[in-house]
Amino acid sequence: MPRLVVFSNRVPLGDKPSGGLVVALNDTMASQGGLWIGTETVKERSGNGPDALVNHPGATFERLAMGLTPEEQDGYYLGYSNSVLWPLFHGRADLLSVSVGQFTTYTSVNRRLAELSAPHLRPDDTIWIHDYHLIPLAHELRKLGVRNPIGFFLHIPFPVANGIRALSDNAEFLDWFSAYDLVGLQTQRDVANFIGAFRTLGRAELLSDGRLRFNNDFIQVASFPIGIDATGFRTAAEQAPELPEITTSAQKVMIGVDRLDYSKGLPHRLRGFQAFLRERHAEADRIAFLQIAPPTREDVQAYKDIRRDLEQLSGEVNGEFGDIGYMPVQYIHRSIPRARLAGLFRRADIALVTPLNDGMNLVAKEYVAAQDEADPGVLILSRFAGAAEQLAEGALLINPYDAASIADGITRAVTMPLDERRTRHAAMWSEIARHDNDWWTATFLQSLARAAASRRTSE
Ligand code: UDP
Repeated sequence: MPRLVVFSNRVPLGDKPSGGLVVALNDTMASQGGLWIGTETVKERSGNGPDALVNHPGATFERLAMGLTPEEQDGYYLGYSNSVLWPLFHGRADLLSVSVGQFTTYTSVNRRLAELSAPHLRPDDTIWIHDYHLIPLAHELRKLGVRNPIGFFLHIPFPVANGIRALSDNAEFLDWFSAYDLVGLQTQRDVANFIGAFRTLGRAELLSDGRLRFNNDFIQVASFPIGIDATGFRTAAEQAPELPEITTSAQKVMIGVDRLDYSKGLPHRLRGFQAFLRERHAEADRIAFLQIAPPTREDVQAYKDIRRDLEQLSGEVNGEFGDIGYMPVQYIHRSIPRARLAGLFRRADIALVTPLNDGMNLVAKEYVAAQDEADPGVLILSRFAGAAEQLAEGALLINPYDAASIADGITRAVTMPLDERRTRHAAMWSEIARHDNDWWTATFLQSLARAAASRRTSE
């Protein structure tokens, strides 16, 4: 079997991996070995020329990291990746924050990573590059003569053509993708956007076999919805320690778990809950809504703004509907370990997942996996989460922009009979158990091997 070389922004260095990407790939790497290359922030980078990659021993696979100076971290990570690409790819061109030099730093970090990594690659390696931080990496590796199969997987949504038009300084954007043998996206919707953007902006031609002819190259693109370790997460939920009572007088618990990111629709969620309380307060069971929202990218202004909005709104809802011994919203601005989350998910009667745009949303899948199938909870899910394509049969799909739609979802969830809850849960469980993280890695890598072989024969 060829060695797998994974590239992602961060190399997993802690004992307990967190974050969807790392969790999904860590198992594959731990079981079959391989090499994982990424970046890490360092205070000083010594010398003038490129540094060597730093080896991090201690895992069942090899880990190499390239040090980034604080300036590089600013321009490449906080800057171009998270203040330009992230908002644009999530359809939020209004939140774009462009600074001089970001784009140059982004491309030069990718170039240096290619230069430092190339000597570590072997001719029979399969290379799998992840996410929006590293889009140009294959292009840079190809320039250095790397001919291995290279696949790319984008964990976030792919934007419509107009989103890409807002990348004013980036004439090379489309070219970067033609260096890959296979481009993997989360959903069919992303694939349609990708094809649309290449046809509109790059005059690409869609061939009958699904490939795009773009300039003198072919691009193979397909969707591979990322999965979770469904049985592992279910076991973690079953074995989770007893939880303290979440609130004293609430009869039902509703949970939300999201990085505090503007793409997650958190203020919309609270407005939806507020609309529910206004409408149903008198007769409904008292619901405690537990929102866990760990901080993320706090140096970016848009993230400071969303935190302020959320804190204000949860105060407002509690002021309006709170009582002695009853606090409708519990908002925790801290990260909770996944094992503990598994127990909380199992305890919660409802999960409220309302992103305005989300690549997949693993929390939705984890909530389903954590349920007791004899008495499962209800998933309320935004139609704009990637997961909605797979979970449409079992989840209550809502429109997060419409508070009445969220309120209606909560009403339906609270009153849903056990039979219906079981049927819906069974449909979702069967989907996430079949398309788990092992399925995801195996399917992507098989498709990559095929795509690379057919590209070689057509050269
Ligand atoms: N997560 C966690 N602790 C927290 C919040 C989130 O371990 O306090 C995990 C969560 O269980 C999930 C991942 O972080 O596995 C978040 O993935 P998702 O796709 O939902 O959102 P992302 O953060 O990747 O946008």
